Amino acid sequence: MSSDKTTRTSLPDPANWAPETRLVHGGTLRSQFGETSEAIFLTQGYIYNSAEQAEARFKNEDPGYQYSRFSNPTVTMLEERIRLLEGEGAEAARGTATGMAAVTAAILSGLKAGDHIVSARALFGSCRYIVEDLCPRFGIQSTLVDGRDLDAWKDAVRPNTKAFFFETPANPTMELVDIAEVSKIAHAAGASVIVDNVFATPMLQRPLQHGADIVVYSATKHIDGQGRCLGGLVICSAKFLEDHLQNFIRQTGPSISPFNAWVMLKGLETLPVRVKAQSESAARIADWLADQPRIARVLYPTRDDHPQISLAKKQMTGGGQVVTFDIDGSKTEAFAFLNALRIARISNNLGDAKSLVTHPATTTHQRLKPEARAELGIGNGMVRLSVGLEALDDLIADLDQALKMAFS
Ligand SMILES: *Cc1c(COP(=O)(O)O)cnc(C)c1O
Repeated sequence: MSSDKTTRTSLPDPANWAPETRLVHGGTLRSQFGETSEAIFLTQGYIYNSAEQAEARFKNEDPGYQYSRFSNPTVTMLEERIRLLEGEGAEAARGTATGMAAVTAAILSGLKAGDHIVSARALFGSCRYIVEDLCPRFGIQSTLVDGRDLDAWKDAVRPNTKAFFFETPANPTMELVDIAEVSKIAHAAGASVIVDNVFATPMLQRPLQHGADIVVYSATKHIDGQGRCLGGLVICSAKFLEDHLQNFIRQTGPSISPFNAWVMLKGLETLPVRVKAQSESAARIADWLADQPRIARVLYPTRDDHPQISLAKKQMTGGGQVVTFDIDGSKTEAFAFLNALRIARISNNLGDAKSLVTHPATTTHQRLKPEARAELGIGNGMVRLSVGLEALDDLIADLDQALKMAFS
């Protein structure tokens, strides 16, 4: 949708390509130099051939770029490449500076004072801030519900409910939300459904294919995949873009830099192989952890002991690369375990080629009141592991020695 502005090389119809092929070639805009790798257009603005052309472009009568706050060829390539991946209903995509800019634009652009939003309470900390604190400050009422409970979503609906928002799987508890059933409830109420699909990635779950209306990503995570740049993406209908998102981004400017867009664009080329390798390792690590006497609980969506395993099988094609587990101990043992790890590093990021561990109760979810943490089941023994691209045997050996150290 967003890419009719510049001449495309004559490639076959991307609609017939498998996802892996779309991620390598989709959206490519080749310049007059015929470069193999996509170019970085580090430019703020664009030159017009005549005053008449400038006038026509501002009237939207001449296709072409005007200003990189709202469009840039490198950013267009990124947007088109992710759009092609999300499938039917993905009519438009917009890049943003961060994942939080994508979440904020997706939520705020479509709402106004007097509207109401319902959200799952198991959310990334900053997402929870947007819904719980920021929206009410501008007269948008919000209700947080247990996302697993369909009746809770139904009961939260009010005459002015305009949006539903959730993450599935949720960080770090791996709670799932039934995208198809919750979307039915939202649509019956005239509300649209926004899904933060970071944990599953577009390789393992495509929310639009289950009834959602808008998908958001922190591209900072798996799409970059090597911990370099911040970025975000919103994928939506042409109507939502035209009625709300386009103007919001154009006028408020949460734009992604062309350089960061280029890093994400190249990241998409290798996303399928990285997500596959990391998810396979994560599933094996989850099984290994579950056999260790000092591990009290393992949370991984596609393990048989996950409370929502049938839902995981219904809407996901893999469990993802994050494993959450409870150490049989308190903060002392959890910290001793983290400090003893030699390969997995302590960091709150995820989706990286490097394995990363975090203690949610004292970092990502520190801001929550103790009662809110208890309600979500985030205890002092909980550890979140983002599995990287290292050899599986090395990772398991590292976890093994750290567990022994923590309880020695
Ligand atoms: C990291 C993350 C975000 C925010 O993304 P940034 O790029 O850090 O702004 C939003 N949602 C989820 C689920 C995340 O993991």
